[in-house]
Order: sequence, then structure tokens, then C-alpha cells
Amino acid sequence: MDNYEDRLKSALINQHKKWFDHNTRSLRPEHAQEINCPVCDLAAHKLYFQKDWFKFVKCSECGMVFLNPRLNEKATYDFYNSEWTAIYNERKFDAVPRTIKLDDIINETNLNLLENFADKRTDGNRGNLLEIGTGSGFFIRKAVEHGYNAYGVELNYNNCMKVKDLLGDNIINADLYSARFSARMFDVIYMRDVFEHVPDPKRMLYEMNRIANDGCVIYIEVPNIEGLIYKIVKEKHVCVFGFEHLNYWSPQSLARILGTCGFEVAEIKHESLDFTLSRLLAHFCEASFTSIEPVHYPAIVKLLARFVSLGFSLPLLSTIDKRLTPLIADSMRRGSVIKTIARKTGDILLI
Ligand SMILES: [Zn+2]
Repeated sequence: MDNYEDRLKSALINQHKKWFDHNTRSLRPEHAQEINCPVCDLAAHKLYFQKDWFKFVKCSECGMVFLNPRLNEKATYDFYNSEWTAIYNERKFDAVPRTIKLDDIINETNLNLLENFADKRTDGNRGNLLEIGTGSGFFIRKAVEHGYNAYGVELNYNNCMKVKDLLGDNIINADLYSARFSARMFDVIYMRDVFEHVPDPKRMLYEMNRIANDGCVIYIEVPNIEGLIYKIVKEKHVCVFGFEHLNYWSPQSLARILGTCGFEVAEIKHESLDFTLSRLLAHFCEASFTSIEPVHYPAIVKLLARFVSLGFSLPLLSTIDKRLTPLIADSMRRGSVIKTIARKTGDILLI
């Protein structure tokens, strides 16, 4: 099978077969783990939605949405070394991404956003910046250009090698805990598209608190489950992905967990690049690449959605759609993605 999309789908179906019992349509016990709410630690929750037999629940106390039961730690890390991940990385990291220009613009925007909050030293050095999950290294290269003394932790060895020339020993092929950074070492800590994957978010924030300098600025970018697009397409969204995404944050749940871990939210920006009429219609035509089951809409709905979406392939309509429709979600503070800036308020002493 040569086609990239077909290989990706086939690998996902094979992985699903390994993890799930097809009689009970639930995770096999050896791969599963029941948890309490990762934010408030209470057990009471209600089913929010299901996708590909994964169950997503909403905490009855704080409203946090999370996968439960979820894959245990071994299964979670196994997936990062799975056939599906290897195929996915062919385009995400290993090839020159088609989105490199867009990525550059986003990284520049995010650095400018950070600089509204981070203090610049008199010697021109912006201090120590840590990126958790450096990926292809585009952000950290820009951070060095902006005058930061940059460090990175990254689980994928090949990705580490991509920034070795720039960072030397400052790029560490390990998780945050194994890197064992000194206390109060960093002035800025940055993570984009990472926090939704983290099995124990409080443990990570406690470690970030320990290595954060007084007044350290942290940046966390995650999908917003309270975003307008999730309210409309629900579990059909590409980011609702039980294989990898354990936690589904909102401005409220993120602010709450940050508050309990020694940080205070300074600003939350909303961004909705995927909230366009054209993309909304696509959800009614076919399943996303992170789903193994086809969408269940009547043929007439699919046909109508395809017909209308043809109109949005016209250049003028497409441009208007991409420029204006996202503003609706952002202005309602219901963006697809939230970029959260928070500041360290004090040390958390763990007993
Ligand atoms: Zn809760």
C-alpha cells in the first residue's frame, strides 16, 4: 500500500485491534487505567462523548474533559514508537513541511507575545528559555534569534539531532523529569501542542514550578474543548484522539490547574485557523485521519456538504472564509486553540 493516507489508516486500525476487546468494545485491562479528574482529583464524572470506542468524560466538579479509562503509561509511550507514529512523522517532522511558512509566522507571533511579558535584561540577553517538546526545532531556532539562551527536551531522538548543531548539550533526549534541571533555572518555559498529551499534568506543572525562576513566564498552547468548532463538530474533530490526547483543556480548567501549581494566568489568546465554513463542511463529508470509523451522516447530507464546499474552493470565497470566519470564534472567546501565558507566583513545596 503506497498511499500515505491508506497506510496511516491501516496502522491506526491495527493499533486499535491490539488495544481493544472487540466483544466488549472496551480497552483490554492490560492497556487501560481508570483515573480521577487530573485537575481536581474527584472521581465523579459523566460521559461527554465517545469515539472509536474511547470514552471521554467531563468532571462533575470542575468541568475538565478527559479520556477515562485511558491508556496506561506503557501503552501511551508504546504508541509514540508505533507504526502509525512513524508514518505520521514522515510528514509532520521528517519531510520539509508544507506548512513551514505558516509555522514560522506562528512562532514569530508567539515570541512577540511572550516578549510582552518576559523582562529583557540590560545586557540584551533575554535569559534562559526552555521548550518542552522541540519537534522539528523551528520555534527554538527563532527563540535563539530573539536573544534567548535556549534549552530543549524532546523524546524523539531524530528530532533532537535536528537542533544539536545549534543547542549542543542544551538539547536533551529525555522527558522533563529525567533532564533534572537546576531549581529556578528558567525565565521562560514554552510548550505548544504538548500539554494535551501529558499523563500527569500536575506533576509536570510542579516540576515546571521548581525549575522556574521568580516571575518566570510560561506559555501553554492547547486545543480548547470549549471552542466553537468542538461545540459544532464534537468528537468528529481531528484533535479528539483517544490514541494520543488524554486531556481536553478549556480556559477554565487550565486556569484552575495552573493556580494550584504556583502559576497565575496573565493572558489567554484565542486562535481559530481551522474554524472556517469550508473545514466545518468537511467534517460532514468524511472522517478525519485520526478516526477509524467513517462518519455516519445520510448520503444526502454528505452530498449537499460536498456541493456547498465546492463553492468555497473558489479563490475569492476561500480567502474571505479563511480571513473572516475564524474571527467569529475568537471574538466570542471560543477559539479552537488557546494560547495561555502565565506567571510564576511562588514556590510549591512538595512534602
Ligand atoms: Zn475536576
